[in-house]
Amino acid sequence: MIRAGERLLLWLMIAAVVAGFGAGYVGGEAMVSVKWLGDLFLTALKMLIVPLVVASVITGVAGLGDVRKLGRLGGISVAYYATTTFIAVSIGLLMANLWRPGVGVPLGDMQAPSRALGDVGITDLILSLVHPNIIAAAAEMKLLPIIVFCIAFAAALSMLGERGETVLRFFEGLNEAMMKMVGWIMWFAPIGVFALIASKLGEAGGGDAFFAQLAGLAKYALAVISGLLIHAAFLCSVLLFIARRSVAEYLGHLATALMTAFSTASSSATLPLTMEGVKMAGVPKPARRFVLPLGATINMDGTALYEAVAVLFIAQAMGIDLTFGQQMIVLVTATMAAIGAAGIPEAGLVTMVIVLEAVGLPLEGIGLILAIDWFLDRCRTTVNVYGDAVGAAVVGRLTGNNAGSEGSRD
Ligand code: ASP
Repeated sequence: MIRAGERLLLWLMIAAVVAGFGAGYVGGEAMVSVKWLGDLFLTALKMLIVPLVVASVITGVAGLGDVRKLGRLGGISVAYYATTTFIAVSIGLLMANLWRPGVGVPLGDMQAPSRALGDVGITDLILSLVHPNIIAAAAEMKLLPIIVFCIAFAAALSMLGERGETVLRFFEGLNEAMMKMVGWIMWFAPIGVFALIASKLGEAGGGDAFFAQLAGLAKYALAVISGLLIHAAFLCSVLLFIARRSVAEYLGHLATALMTAFSTASSSATLPLTMEGVKMAGVPKPARRFVLPLGATINMDGTALYEAVAVLFIAQAMGIDLTFGQQMIVLVTATMAAIGAAGIPEAGLVTMVIVLEAVGLPLEGIGLILAIDWFLDRCRTTVNVYGDAVGAAVVGRLTGNNAGSEGSRD
């Protein structure tokens, strides 16, 4: 059930998104002056991420009671991530083959990417699971090594018996306090979201400039967005048939998180609100506390789909027809690239190097899609966050805890 407070926030959020677009469209560059309000919201959210992830993963894993259950929880989560990401890339490939958005696009404005793109390989992905200094990892907000550390730490704690209990109670308290703070920041979300959308649209030069950017890459943007919508519809059916939840109600609980994902383009920054939304929806503790932090870092359906469309777009623009075999390489590498992408703005653009190199396309091709990437980043991040939230519901259901059970109480 959606409570009255949540409903009020939902309406405020919808108003904020509409007003943000309106103000950015009309006000143009003048709206950059409200950017600081958006930054305030974003920074406040980011401030909670590290303590929240630490407390949430430790209590989530230890809350399983028996470490052996971690295998099942982890197994189902990874199977969910892998399947949905694979389906997302397949939808991306389908869209790029149907729309053929790159055909006839002029290469004239092809430019080298604006920032240095690192060379990321599969071994780098595996190495990114660990970090020599866990405090440094926290300071750099590298979530993956923190999560790996916390899983191992929680497993160790649960083997210590009574002595472990005391430490665990500390993290329980930390988690509850963090979630309280999330609840407070949430009420600032409408102002933050309004400011983020209005100032970003303003930075892009206002409504007319935005539509001009969009028109230049219209077919490409349509291919990405239609793919994302199809994938979102697929996730809704997973929610309905596998997690057995009402889609409308679940979306109602998650609205603040999804709109924040759209306005921040960062699944990590949105994580505190995703956790709050999924908690409201009554997803059991271990599922949401374990699945969401991990999902925000490695499960990125929207990014995977987008990378497939973008790479095919670049190939088509260069007059190269990728064979079926090469498209299968895109399928595998785009999945890896999405796993490797951090939950921060435009991370997908950086890890796309893996896919381009695998099929032998020049990295400069990325220059072709830069103009509109800030907008598509927001769209794919929203789907990334939705995919994580649906994953928590699925894992909650398949690990035998139903909504509203004792397990869902904090
Ligand atoms: N911005 C995305 C996210 O945070 C990652 C990406 O660039 O695709 O989920």
